[in-house]
Amino acid sequence: MDRKTFLKSLALLPLVTCNMKLQEFPSIANALPNTEKMPVLFVGHGSPMNALEDNAFTRSLRKLGEQFKQEGKKPAAILVVSAHWLTRGSYVNIAPKPETIHDFGGFPKELFEAQYPAAGSPELAKETAKRSALIQETDDWGLDHGAWTILMHLFPEADIPVFQLSIDYYQPLQYHLDLAAQLNALREKGVLIIGSGNIVHNLRLSMERLRNGDTRPFDWAVEFDTWVSEKIAGRDFQSLVTYEKAGESGKLSVPTPDHYIPMLYSLGLAGEKEEIKQAYEEVALGGISMRTFQVGA
Ligand code: ZN
Repeated sequence: MDRKTFLKSLALLPLVTCNMKLQEFPSIANALPNTEKMPVLFVGHGSPMNALEDNAFTRSLRKLGEQFKQEGKKPAAILVVSAHWLTRGSYVNIAPKPETIHDFGGFPKELFEAQYPAAGSPELAKETAKRSALIQETDDWGLDHGAWTILMHLFPEADIPVFQLSIDYYQPLQYHLDLAAQLNALREKGVLIIGSGNIVHNLRLSMERLRNGDTRPFDWAVEFDTWVSEKIAGRDFQSLVTYEKAGESGKLSVPTPDHYIPMLYSLGLAGEKEEIKQAYEEVALGGISMRTFQVGA
């Protein structure tokens, strides 16, 4: 739609409402003109303490956020698919003011006091639900730490509306890759979609090693992280759905798929010819991959 048609359609809206049933009323988001296509991110979020820390990983997030600014790409809203919102069925949060959820225990008081006061985006969240019959609306969520701990560095001003899409934990991995593809048009409405998890995430073995004061990465963690990055570079996303084929390193790196699934959303949104740029890589705390990448420019 060009600008003139768009303005005309806005002027017609009050008239249109009189003659339409509510469900036929086009959402304002639908009426919004398409923007330049937003890139997609996958962020390896790691420890919630990253929210408060200044380290190589958090500096890389700040740099990414700065790049958006320098390129004049301010998202209309941010949609996060976080490893920490697992549900039966796929839900999108339409809350206008999502609260900062401190969904962890045993961390210092400052972390429980941290707030990310971004607004929600009921309009774009509803638009997201319209993209797929598999997505239902809810207002029963806020921003979990998979979202706010990284956004505090990417967009510290918290002036961009944020909403989340849950992970249906009862579905096979292919479901997530396919559902993501249905959300691609949101990128043209100015929505920055971020998958937030960790490609390698074995907390139990990492903690065991840390208790002995050892932070060296496990060999299997490096092996699997490298295997995944090679599959991404070769655009072989199908192999990532059947990651068990990577052997023992896959089983140890992904003991449960909660932190792995957000990556499938980021990849499912990648156009055939879109570049995938690695933004950060590190295997931290023994068995947590902090690999972060950007899809598209
Ligand atoms: Zn996590």
